[in-house]
Parts: sequence; structure tokens; C-alpha cells
Amino acid sequence: MASPEEILNRLETLRSNDAPTHGGRVLSYVYDSGLPELDALAASAMELVQPVNGLDPTTFTSVAAMEREVIEFARNLLHGDQNTVGTITSGGTESCLLAVKRARTNYQGAGAPKILAPSTVHAAFHKAAEYFELELDLVPVQANGQLQAARLIERMDENTALVVISAPAYPYATLDPITEIAAVASVRGIECHVDACIGGWILPFWPNLPEWDLRVRGVTSIAADLHKYGYAPKGISVLLTQGRDTQRSQYFATTNWPGYPVVNSTLLGSKSAAPLAAAWAIINYLGETGFQALAESTHNSTQTLLTHISSIKGLRVLGSPTGPLFAVAQDDSLTPETRIDPHLWADRLGTLGWRAQLQPAYRQPDGTTLPRTTHLTITPVTAASVTELCSAMTVAAQDVRGVPGINPQEVLASLDLEVLPELNSQSAQELLTGLGLADNSAGLPAAMAQVMALIEALPASFSQRLLVELMARLIEP
Ligand SMILES: *Cc1c(COP(=O)(O)O)cnc(C)c1O
Repeated sequence: MASPEEILNRLETLRSNDAPTHGGRVLSYVYDSGLPELDALAASAMELVQPVNGLDPTTFTSVAAMEREVIEFARNLLHGDQNTVGTITSGGTESCLLAVKRARTNYQGAGAPKILAPSTVHAAFHKAAEYFELELDLVPVQANGQLQAARLIERMDENTALVVISAPAYPYATLDPITEIAAVASVRGIECHVDACIGGWILPFWPNLPEWDLRVRGVTSIAADLHKYGYAPKGISVLLTQGRDTQRSQYFATTNWPGYPVVNSTLLGSKSAAPLAAAWAIINYLGETGFQALAESTHNSTQTLLTHISSIKGLRVLGSPTGPLFAVAQDDSLTPETRIDPHLWADRLGTLGWRAQLQPAYRQPDGTTLPRTTHLTITPVTAASVTELCSAMTVAAQDVRGVPGINPQEVLASLDLEVLPELNSQSAQELLTGLGLADNSAGLPAAMAQVMALIEALPASFSQRLLVELMARLIEP
């Protein structure tokens, strides 16, 4: 037996090897308000509900009260009405899964149901389609990442159980043409979900936007993650739905077993109330004015960075991002010696202490290819370091300008392709070892560009299997 002190020392050591969760050095995954008192408040709120079981809000009535108040706040923010009901979920993915589960249950068509969405829709909808056995019909977007409404509208048919559009979509921060699409969906009686997981708590305070929330006629549900721009610890999102009866099919209930009667609003049974208590406390502390101030500062930082990047020769911002995130691509209009590969750039930024997120090139269903990009998510804390980040971007750009990016075909040539069709745990591990990707004890390799090139080179089914092996081995005792 170890003493509590020893145990916590060990945890501190482990934590010290994590990517930094504060200070804005990691430009994805974490959403730092830059307000230490907010973290302290959240921690105290979590401690107060630590032993509570969120499974049963009739026994733990604090859970019902906090859920009600968070839903009310979100409903006002996203312009719902008396007909808007809500669910507190464990995060964006669960909100997406539940929106699909609900539409699947409500679907009355004769054919196999489908989800219709632009190809930039979040991967959680691929997961939902797989889990709940719906077809996923992905509509190609233009080279600037933007969806043309007509291309999606023409694919609506009697098998469409759900249309999903985003505010904004994660990869390039594109705001989908929500008004146009929702109007047609409404006329055709198709449910229309707005995925505002990343935008939902900050776009309400973003200047000069068209309507994108529950004000738009035809939008039947919307999701907004509190563990993103709600600044709450991980494990909480809100899913709002128009119409009680529509939403009730999202629940699971059974009295048909010998145990306690089960009523679940979400996928989990027993669950923590900690993220709920933290989010509830943060909402009460910030109020709309607090969120507004944080959004304004984030908007300023984002504008500064966008302007700076457009001044870096060799890079370009993809399309017209909406909100505090964007993707950076190579400027192909320049000569090869002035171009910058966004992945080499991101890896160089990494060695300078700034972690941006690499996104591989993506081949759409119609054969067109969206380029490799580097994604950055900006949070309030960046205000304190935006000059430093701009300088690092410039330095990284100078260091890799003119260096050709990793060629996926060359990665492919280095592989023994014979084993690919029958990949198993053993052969996948051998392949990963050959690529120098098998030993992850100290975290993923600094050169993520190589991993991305591998993903670009391989058919998705193979890269997916390899990545599963990589992750599974990571936690083998
Ligand atoms: C983050 C995100 C999700 C998934 O959310 P998780 O919280 O990571 O499960 C879904 N959609 C969008 C647009 C997102 O940004």
C-alpha cells in the first residue's frame, strides 16, 4: 500500500508528461478560459457532487435542478421556445449519437434509413451511422470547404431520416447554409439537426453571422458542447430538441426485467454528476456577459492570427472560417520553392512548443480531394500569447518553406502491402514497428506528418485498422 502522498506524487509526475492543458500551447482538445478562478470553482463544484449518481434525478434531486437550469440557459442562448426540450449528455459524440438514435426511431420510411450531410460533418456521425445501422450519404463540398445547399437538397429523398449541418463544421470551420437547407427539410418532413458542438457556446457572441440556431425554421435539434466553449471539464454537452414527442423517442425505458425500473435519457446508466455541476457553476458565474467578454477576446485573437497567416508567404487559410477555429493549407499558387507544407509546418511549430492539429488530405465521394491542412482552435487564453504564437508561426514557416511535404506514394512504396488484406493484431504491430510507430510509451512521434502521409496513402480500412492497433497496444499492461 502506498500513502496518498506517494500516489498523488506519482500522478503529478504522470501529468507533467502530458501536453500542457493551460496557457494556450495546445491548439485543440482543450479550451482554456484563461480564468484560474473558473477552474477552481469547477473543481469545488465537482467535489460537492463526487458521490452522486446522475442515473436517478428523483433520488439525487440536485441533478434534476442543475440539468433544468443548464438546459434553460442553453435554450435562451440558442433561441428556443416553450416547445424546446433538452438533454444533458456526456459530450459532443453522445449528443450526435442521440440525435441520430432519435431520428432513427422516428423514421417511418420503408427503405433503409439514411443520414444526409456534407462530407465535412463530424466523424461522430460516421460512428452513429455504424452503431445504429443507417447509411451515411456524404455530399461533397467545394474546394474552399463550403457546401452548396442545392447539392445536398437534391439528395433528400424518402429514406432520409436525418439531415445534419454544422455551425461550424470542425475541419475548416465552415458554417453550412442552414436556413436554405432547413427550410426544404421542413417542407419535406425531414428532421434537421444542427451540430453546434463547437460553435454553440461562442457563436451566439460572434459578430455578423446569419441565423444558424433554433430561430431558423426547420431546425429540429441542435447540440452545443459545454466542455468546449462552455469552458467546463470534459464530459458535458447539451442536446436541444423541438417538440416533446419528437424527443421522447430518444429515451430508453424498460420495466421488463426483475430489477429497478430503468429510464435513461442518454447512453449511460450510472453516471457522474461532476461535469454537470462544473458546467452549472461556470454558467452561473459567467452569465451571458461573461461568455460575451471571453468571446470578444477570442474573436480578437482569431482575427490577429488569420491576418498574420495571410501575410506568411506559402500558406493560406482554407475558405472563410466562421468562429474561433480555422485550417491552414499550402498556397499552391506559388512556386514550389515558396510553398509551405502545412504538416511540416505543424511539426516544426510542435518543436517550438505549440501544438497544432494535423488533418490529412481527404478524397471525397465524387473523387475530388480536399488538401492536407493544419487545424487551430483558438481559446480566450491565447489573448495573452498571440504575439508569441505569431512569431513562432513565422519561424516555423521560414524553416520549412520550400521543403516538399511527405509524399504518400513514397510511404506506400516502403510498405509490405502483402499483409494488408489480412491485417491482424500481430501483422499490424509488425507493420507499425517497421514504420517506427510501435513504441508509443513516450507519446506519439514528434513527426506527425509521417503518420498523416500514411493515412493519405492507405485505403481507409487499412489505416483505421493500424490506428486501432496503435491505440490498443498503448494501454496493454
Ligand atoms: C467536438 C465536436 C464533436 C464531437 O464532440 P466530442 O465532444 O469530442 O465527443 C462533434 N461535432 C463537432 C462539430 C465538434 O467540434
